Amino acid sequence: MSTFAIGVDLGGTNLRIAAVDERGTLLEKTTTGTQVARGRDFVIGEMCEAIRATATKFSSSKLAGIGIGVPGIIDMDTGMLRESPNLPGWHDYPVRDEIERRLGTKVILENDANSAALGEKWLGAARDYDDMLMLTLGTGVGGGIVLGGRVWHGMRGMAGEPGHITIEPEGPPCPCGNRGCLEQYASATAVVRMAREAIDQGSSPALARASQEDPEFGAKVVYQAAVQGDPVAQEIFRRVGWALGIGLADLINLLNLPIYLIGGGVANAWDAFLPALLEEVRKRSFVYRATAPEESSGSGKKTIITRALLGGDAGLFGAARLPLLVSEAALREGVRKRA
Ligand SMILES: [Zn+2]
Repeated sequence: MSTFAIGVDLGGTNLRIAAVDERGTLLEKTTTGTQVARGRDFVIGEMCEAIRATATKFSSSKLAGIGIGVPGIIDMDTGMLRESPNLPGWHDYPVRDEIERRLGTKVILENDANSAALGEKWLGAARDYDDMLMLTLGTGVGGGIVLGGRVWHGMRGMAGEPGHITIEPEGPPCPCGNRGCLEQYASATAVVRMAREAIDQGSSPALARASQEDPEFGAKVVYQAAVQGDPVAQEIFRRVGWALGIGLADLINLLNLPIYLIGGGVANAWDAFLPALLEEVRKRSFVYRATAPEESSGSGKKTIITRALLGGDAGLFGAARLPLLVSEAALREGVRKRA
């Protein structure tokens, strides 16, 4: 009998559910909108219904378990969602208990950016590495650290928040309470803020035009302006790279990992921010300089900084991986006891 797991990505906009087998083959994927406005009971009800439907469809296989990626800070001990900017009204809500009560089975909750890191480690750009870090540049900047093939949780599951590393002590205020966080320079929200500042100062007619033409003026439009040669838009992405480079230099000095991935929507502007990123990393991290891949001198392992591969599916695969890791560990434990 084959084994599969159910991975869920509960976002502020979409609810996605996948059935994935133990080798990482996607068996099925469904996407529905998350009707956050109808409240948490409704959203959890819809999610549990969809999980049940998926489990029933593959009932001839063995279900290893259910992993759920949730945006926000989760207390791993209690299964409470402590804070979630994308799920307003869910804070200090016992999400795990509520889902388990409705489904009548155990589930594993994980922060969505941690899930994405685990997905990239399992099947994506970091699949040949046991240790890795991923930054996800979306509405905010999320992150996840995987050590020895498992998410590094810290004491209560709150580790891996590189989006809130301080880049400038007196920089723009961040919803986390700090100022000048990486998220204030490298998220889609930050790109749009910097573009609007430039428009207000009258320094970029191209961006001003683009914002008038497109009511949903976003980071993608700013990137298009940069590609088309607008110097202000190009400078915005240099600033993204500058901030990412400062943050990564700290992380590289601290962790000396073999690979650092950058994913999320803003990573599509890779070519616009990479030069500034590498310049800063090289300038600020002696650990990077000693292990840089472009260094011809010195053999041995190199520090890789590269793009994530799985796009929006990383979190879904990572969530499915969570129960599979638990059943693999149980299997190893059983073998050890019999030996
Ligand atoms: Zn912050």
